[in-house]
Amino acid sequence: MTQDILITTQGQAGRITLNRPDALNALSYEMCLAIEDALLAWGRDPDVALVIIEGAGDRAFCAGGDISEMYRTGIAGEYEYGRQFWRDEYRLNAFMASYPKPIVSFLHGFTMGGGVGVGCHGSHRIVCETSQIAMPECGIGLVPDVGGTYLLASAPGRLGEYLGLTATRMKTGDAIYAGFADSFVPQDKWDLLKAALITTGEVTAIEEYSAPAPESELAKQQEQINRYFGGERLGDILNGFAAMPSDFADASLKVLKRNDPLAMGATLEILHRLRMGTPTIEKALELEYRFTHRAHEDGDFLEGIRAAIIDKDRNPQWTRKLEALPLVDVSKMLRPIPGIKLQFHQEETAMKIGFIGLGNMGGHMARNLASAGHDVTGFDTADVSIEGVSKAGTAVEAAKGMDVVITMLPNGAILRAVADEILPVMSAGAVFADCSTVDVESARAVAEKAQALGVMPVDAPVSGGVGGADAGTLTFMVGGSAEAFDKTKPLFDIMGQKAVHCGPSGNGQAAKICNNMILGVTMIATCEAFALADKLGLDRQAMFDVVSTSSGASWSINAYCPAPGVGPTSPSDNDYKPGFAAELMLKDLRLSQDAATSADADTPMGQLAAEQYRQFVEDEDGQGRDFSAMLPRFVSRRRS
Ligand code: NAD
Repeated sequence: MTQDILITTQGQAGRITLNRPDALNALSYEMCLAIEDALLAWGRDPDVALVIIEGAGDRAFCAGGDISEMYRTGIAGEYEYGRQFWRDEYRLNAFMASYPKPIVSFLHGFTMGGGVGVGCHGSHRIVCETSQIAMPECGIGLVPDVGGTYLLASAPGRLGEYLGLTATRMKTGDAIYAGFADSFVPQDKWDLLKAALITTGEVTAIEEYSAPAPESELAKQQEQINRYFGGERLGDILNGFAAMPSDFADASLKVLKRNDPLAMGATLEILHRLRMGTPTIEKALELEYRFTHRAHEDGDFLEGIRAAIIDKDRNPQWTRKLEALPLVDVSKMLRPIPGIKLQFHQEETAMKIGFIGLGNMGGHMARNLASAGHDVTGFDTADVSIEGVSKAGTAVEAAKGMDVVITMLPNGAILRAVADEILPVMSAGAVFADCSTVDVESARAVAEKAQALGVMPVDAPVSGGVGGADAGTLTFMVGGSAEAFDKTKPLFDIMGQKAVHCGPSGNGQAAKICNNMILGVTMIATCEAFALADKLGLDRQAMFDVVSTSSGASWSINAYCPAPGVGPTSPSDNDYKPGFAAELMLKDLRLSQDAATSADADTPMGQLAAEQYRQFVEDEDGQGRDFSAMLPRFVSRRRS
């Protein structure tokens, strides 16, 4: 075995020493594989009670992954070397996070990048006076990886955004405060502590040698970090620097100007997606890998390494501008990768999934499930082929013997008809998940039939549109039993970024209908306000700047601004091509009004919105246009 890593068992401990002190113990591919082999063997070895991992020399535990070989192969167009390295390294990172025995890491000097991956996921992370920990990847055109975004997403407030984007080095107290380390043990006690661990096999010795950690400087800055780094997008953070000048803002901006805009935009997006649900290291690694897999070809990784370690000119020429990072580039970097699923040591077993309704939404959702390694069989009355999905000739064929059947159909009547056909052939204990948007009554009727036949129903309509279905970022609103929700949740996590259990059957549809009633009303209000602003001579950009940060703010203006050229890119910038078509909004508003009638609820604004969209779609030119095309409609109208 290579001398770059020393692997021994001593007393009751397995001991791993990263042994490249001249290279600050940079982690090579071979070292990763050797660590994994050792951990696998020790996991089964009753004589090993715990694992110690440490770095040789005075300067570093491990200053990062060894990226010189990635550069050499990447420049030659051989991307698979780097991709394989990352996949195997990430599997090791996740394994360390859930290792069945204590892993005690001794993080002296620098612990950065790949070093964080092997040093900061174990159960007991020790720092000393010299410790400095950082995730500097945005400086070389990568997102913080090796599970770093999991730690960043779990840090207090917006500290994760700050550390990820600026690559700020955490000192001893900071590392504990941010959740990258657990205990401060003065370095002159380390030999004694290691000896105690080896002899006793017990981690209780750590407490004995620990001392109070030095104060965290970052903790003192937490409030301003939250203030400046709370924005949804990179542009919001830059706006904050301009709007609230300070030394902190100047210093942060200076760093952001050096780092890769694409990597920073994607880092923010990953952290936000992770926080939408409960962050897990597996989900973090999946998202990180989507970026790193594409980093050579579509990102600036090679340019980043060139500037940092090859030519050392420290002047990378990034391909995107900080002030004008296209959001679509970020989304593309974070799309699922067809045919590739990261393998982890505790694999969920692949499920057999039937998918019925492979239209604009369902096609993407089925493809994402297949590329995550599930065995997907699809059926649609139209003859469609979806990458990775086997074709069934009938709905019954797509449903028989499946663990889960998902439907994504146009309306409640079609759902009822399909359910009548397939429920009798489905296995007892299987899940029937309807993701279409339908009326609450149909959802509850279908659920009742399913239960009578021993099938577990969930109604799980989605928000996020075709773009979200494609990118795997949908939000699922789920009605049904907790058991059915738990069984389907891993699939929601692949197709989306958030799944909320809303209660018993029908409640998912209820949540969807209420949400979209608000959306219809706020979009109309936003559009009529822009049209009024035009007539009062108020510039649209000024209107956006005021409202998006004032009490009139809503998703309709902040994230989906109906005025072309203003705010983030949205269908208004593409001549109002949908997006979310006006007729679909009309469908949802009608569902809300039907539900309001049967529940005897007073919803005057919802009623008005439904009538406005009816006129737009049925009497005017709204059919086939995005629902935000209400803006040109109001602009062309006069007060009646
Ligand atoms: P779509 O019309 O593109 O897809 C529906 C698919 O169902 C079509 O391919 C159609 O051929 C198929 N189908 C119809 N009857 C069938 C049957 N009996 N058996 C098998 N297949 C059948 O619609 P979509 O945009 O994918 O929307 C699907 C559902 O998702 C709708 O309920 C919609 O309201 C909801 N939704 C759509 C969006 C969106 O932005 N498109 C957003 C959120 C929710």
